Amino acid sequence: MSSDHPKPIKIVWVYPDLLSTYGDQGNTIVLERRAALRGIPTQTVHLRSDERVPVDGDIFLLGGGEDRPQILAAQRLRRDGGLYEAAQRGAVVFAVCAGYQLLGHEFGGEEGQPVPGLGLLDIRSGRGRQRAVGEIVGEVAAELNVPRITGFENHQGITHLGQRVKPLAKVVTGIGNGDGFEGAYSGRVLGTYMHGPALVRNPGLADLLLRWAVGGDIQPIDDSWAGRLREERLKAVLG
Ligand code: GLN
Repeated sequence: MSSDHPKPIKIVWVYPDLLSTYGDQGNTIVLERRAALRGIPTQTVHLRSDERVPVDGDIFLLGGGEDRPQILAAQRLRRDGGLYEAAQRGAVVFAVCAGYQLLGHEFGGEEGQPVPGLGLLDIRSGRGRQRAVGEIVGEVAAELNVPRITGFENHQGITHLGQRVKPLAKVVTGIGNGDGFEGAYSGRVLGTYMHGPALVRNPGLADLLLRWAVGGDIQPIDDSWAGRLREERLKAVLG
């Protein structure tokens, strides 16, 4: 364990039994790996939906899910209260698709009925007329200092952003929130429609979360292989 980081970063993979579509667990693995390459120790908890949320987590990750597991996850997280509490005291939260929607005030259930979310992000989701399926590329908000993001989206939901959040990215291709923007963030809580897994396809986004978690800069690492794969992917999508 490095003396600079005596305490491991505690990563909590939230409800893999309900929220884990399209390989979103890869987000956990890439965070562990990119921390390890810098000598930063991590400890990962796979939190099942019948367990209490550990409020001392540093980074909480939520994945995508089908409509009904998404509703169950929202109910259990609301009842537990731990994720809300952890975020209020500054924990990092990164949520994808169903996980993103349920961080908001409400989202659309399987019949379009409004289902209450956690209210951690000032967003509201409903159901769009068409399912958004395919590749998505976005230019990230300049203040986050993250290169263009790429991912895969598959959702029926559309998301309206309130005053207290900013869009994560401007859509270059794809649907995202449905209004020309993709994802949302406020403080250290960030949500996106991007699977991929998003942090594997976008190491810059992974490093943003690590910077937030350690509260400062982190060493650069050699990303030439990831960079080549990203270029290939962007070329395939954008031509
Ligand atoms: N059930 C949500 C929707 O269709 C989220 C889907 C997902 O997580 N892929 O919008």
